[in-house]
Amino acid sequence: MADSTLTTPRLDKQIALVTGASSGIGTGVAKSLAEAGATVIVNYVHDAEGADVVVKEIEAAGGQALALQADVSKEADVLKMFGQILDRFGTLHILINNSGVQQDAPFTEMTLEQWQKVIDVNLTGQFLCAREAAKEFIRRGVQPEVSKAAGKIICMSSVHEVIPWAGHANYAASKGGVMLLMKTMAQELAQHKIRVNTIGPGAIKTPINKEAWDTPEAAEQLLKLIPYGRIGEPHDVGEVAVWLASDASDYVHGITLFVDGGMTLFPGFIGNG
Ligand code: NAD
Repeated sequence: MADSTLTTPRLDKQIALVTGASSGIGTGVAKSLAEAGATVIVNYVHDAEGADVVVKEIEAAGGQALALQADVSKEADVLKMFGQILDRFGTLHILINNSGVQQDAPFTEMTLEQWQKVIDVNLTGQFLCAREAAKEFIRRGVQPEVSKAAGKIICMSSVHEVIPWAGHANYAASKGGVMLLMKTMAQELAQHKIRVNTIGPGAIKTPINKEAWDTPEAAEQLLKLIPYGRIGEPHDVGEVAVWLASDASDYVHGITLFVDGGMTLFPGFIGNG
C-alpha cells in the first residue's frame, strides 16, 4: 500500500492556551489537547484549586500543563498572562478562546450590568486574547517542523450564534458577535498563515447549564431539542478542538463547526413541522 496521505491529528511541540479551563468544556478541551501532545496553559479566573486539579490530571496522564490566572475581560490581566507564557515557553501556537458566562434575564428586566458583564467576558475577552495571540503568531511565523500554520485561534461560540434565545439577549448577542469577530479575524489574518475557526457547542453537560440537564425531567425537555438523542460531554468538544487545531484541518478556515447533535437542524420540524 502507498504511504498514507492522512494526517494524524497530533499537537506535539505546540503550546496551547485554553481560557476558562478550570471547569466544563475548557477542562475537556485542555485534556484532549494535552493527550494530543500539546503543552497546555490552563487559564482560570477565580478557581485556582480547580485549575490545579486539571493540571495534576493532565500530568498524571503523561501530559504537560501549567495553570495561569487572568480575567480575560481585563486588558492588564491578559497582557500579564501572555507575558508569563512567552517568558516561560518562548511562544504560543494555539489559542482556545473558551471563557464564557451567562447572566440571564427577561429582556425588559435585563440590567446594564448583566448586559455588560456578558459582553465583556464572552466577546471582549475573546478579542483581547486573540489580539495578543495573533501578535505572537505574526512575530514568530510558521515553524514547518511544528505546524503548517503560524498559529491557530479557536473561538468557543454556541448554537446561539445563530439560534435566537429569549431571556438571554446578552448571551446570544455576545455569541453572534464572536461569529463575526472570528470571520473578520480569519479574513484579515490568513495572509499571516493564522487559521481562525469557531466551535459552536449545543448542549454540553457543564456547570453553566446544570439546571437544564441535572434532573430527569429537565433532561427529557432538553433532549427534544437534540435530534441525535444525547446530551454532549466536554470530551465531544475536546476531540473536535484537537482536529481543528491540528494540521489535519489545515485547509479549514473561517468556519463555525457546530458540535450539537443536530440542535441547529430546527428539531421542531421533525414531525413534519
Ligand atoms: P463553565 O461555566 O464550566 O465554563 C466557563 C469558564 O469560563 C469557567 O471556567 C469560568 O471560570 C471561566 N470564566 C468566566 N469568566 C471569566 C473571566 N472573566 N476570565 C477568565 N475565565 C472566565 O461552562 P462551559 O459550558 O464549560 O462554558 C465554556 C464555553 O462554552 C463558554 O464560552 C460557553 O458560552 C460555551 N458554551 C457552552 C455550552 C454548554 O452547553 N455547556 C453550549 C454552548 C456554548
